[in-house]
Amino acid sequence: MENKKYDVIVIGAGLGGLGAASQLAIEGKHVLLLEKHNVPGGFATSFVRGRFEFEGALHVLSDIGTEENPGSFYRYLEKLGVVPDHLKFKSAREYYRSVFFDGYDVTMPFGVDPFFDKLIELFPNETEGIEKFKEICLKVQDGFDYIASKGGIASPMAILMKHSWVARVAGLTVEDLFNRCVKGKRLRAVLAQIWGYDGLPPSKLNAIYFIITLISLLRSATYPIGRSHAMTSAIVEGIKNLGGEVRYNALVNRILVENGRASGVELLNGDIYKSKAIISNVNPICTTMKMLPPEVVSESYKRRIYAPQIGVSAFSVYIGLNSPPKKLGLTSHETFINATDDNDEIYDAMTRLEAPKIIVAACYNNIEETISPPGTSQLVLTSLQKGNVWHSVSPDQYHQIKDELANEMITMVEKTISPDLRKYIEVAEGATPLTYYRYSKNMDGAVYGYTQEILNSPMLRLKGRGAVPGLYLGGAWVNLGGGFYPSINSGRMAAAACLNDMQKGRL
Ligand SMILES: Cc1cc2nc3c(=O)[nH]c(=O)nc-3n(C[C@H](O)[C@H](O)[C@H](O)COP(=O)(O)OP(=O)(O)OC[C@H]3O[C@@H](n4cnc5c(N)ncnc54)[C@H](O)[C@@H]3O)c2cc1C
Repeated sequence: MENKKYDVIVIGAGLGGLGAASQLAIEGKHVLLLEKHNVPGGFATSFVRGRFEFEGALHVLSDIGTEENPGSFYRYLEKLGVVPDHLKFKSAREYYRSVFFDGYDVTMPFGVDPFFDKLIELFPNETEGIEKFKEICLKVQDGFDYIASKGGIASPMAILMKHSWVARVAGLTVEDLFNRCVKGKRLRAVLAQIWGYDGLPPSKLNAIYFIITLISLLRSATYPIGRSHAMTSAIVEGIKNLGGEVRYNALVNRILVENGRASGVELLNGDIYKSKAIISNVNPICTTMKMLPPEVVSESYKRRIYAPQIGVSAFSVYIGLNSPPKKLGLTSHETFINATDDNDEIYDAMTRLEAPKIIVAACYNNIEETISPPGTSQLVLTSLQKGNVWHSVSPDQYHQIKDELANEMITMVEKTISPDLRKYIEVAEGATPLTYYRYSKNMDGAVYGYTQEILNSPMLRLKGRGAVPGLYLGGAWVNLGGGFYPSINSGRMAAAACLNDMQKGRL
């Protein structure tokens, strides 16, 4: 039993937990970060099979920018002392390649103007609508840049007066916006290609999430040298250098409550750590229903955490190939392979236990050539899938179904971009929503937390205050939603709320 006191305890070293702990360390707080695994990062991790070290999640990272024009993520890493010395990034050559079963094959470039110019070149009879769509995107992005410049806290009146498009698209789906601007199915499919980064098809996805993802990646898409594990490890070093403590193999079992307020945590092994402020990076349902004493959780708070729908998980196949990428036709970092351009049909398939109708084939050698041994390639095939489709799968069916789905995905690649892929597979490892659940403890293995629909738009999404005073939440489920940079910022927002309460004497 220990009984040490900290200014703040952070549970979980996923991106939200790292964001929260680092922000507090930067602000001079004595912080303890507790992680159940023996490595940091949550989904932002890597693992080894044979002679390959696979990236677990990250495809591309937004908001790093360039040396001449650093983005907000880079500037935060700078404050933490992580860049420029301890972490370097590589920029992607192009945004994405879209391939369709009917042979249509197009590569979209980076940069806001080149991207939209390319769309106009491909779909000249929709020029006016494409330009209108671009204009709306830029106005919304301006609004978010303004909110970011105010530290995330801008007055609603100022937003309405200066950036009314933020409020206007807050109540729209991507499809609502398309209906005002663009018509063709193929154009919509190519333009909305990255909806998987937000987890819902255009007919359900809140336009704000889509626009922010689209524009932020058009401005800068990079990959950390050494995989996302290098980035999360560097953040941990930054936290430690600023006086923070980090403990692994530290599974938090209970959040302690005294007089109705958070007062510390108890680990599975019985160790106790005390603090008046706890930030949990563990999903809100688990934090509230498994870690807190049941009597302190109000019925209204329970309704708030159960009301939003749980978002998609993923099904991935991690493949090490004993041939260089060019020989295999793997010419892009990010290739989307589409069986159809009907996004609702694609999403429907994700809600059933069946072969996906869209996959993204990420060949990391095209962004970081040394990611796998010389003469080899690292390819990760990912599709999205609702985790609940696996509820009815019995243990004896599990491996067979997993192998069947993995095979279907490899066939999609062979059918379109790399006809002989199977011949060159040296190692392959599948991950299902159950794998992602087991690793993260996120309900149904959700990778972006709750769905990113209008009802869970950044303005309406569950906020970072927990069920009792002194408890805060940070990560994909709350504040800004899922993805690397949003999850980090969600943790930083939890830290800001906690610091604010400290300053006002509420803790
Ligand atoms: C295959 C895949 C591909 C992806 N690709 C991208 C991409 O290209 N770009 C992008 O932006 N996003 C991507 N994402 C999404 C992104 O990875 C997630 O949205 C983000 O990492 C979620 O971070 P989080 O802070 O919510 O924490 P999580 O990653 O969910 O981490 C939670 C942490 O809490 C720990 N924990 C849980 N319970 C306890 C406990 N009781 N005690 C102590 N610790 C505990 C867990 O071990 C974990 O470390 C991808 C995800 C996956 C799975």
